[in-house]
Amino acid sequence: MDRCPICNAPYKDDQSTFCNDCGAKRPPAPKIVICKKCGAQLTSEDKYCDRCGEITDFGQMIEKLI
Ligand SMILES: [Zn+2]
Ligand SMILES: [Zn+2]
Repeated sequence: MDRCPICNAPYKDDQSTFCNDCGAKRPPAPKIVICKKCGAQLTSEDKYCDRCGEITDFGQMIEKLI
């Protein structure tokens, strides 16, 4: 269970956007994404697959910006 970074209270459920104890906004949780090439579980913050090196959608998005 995720906890509030401010007051350390556990969030009521996964859908909570704010802490129900102190009202602080919950930091966005990284999503689970699957590597297109090897099927490894990555997070939406990963730019490359740590198993096969394939670039992720997020990585492609970043490269376009540079
Ligand atoms: Zn809190
Ligand atoms: Zn991979």
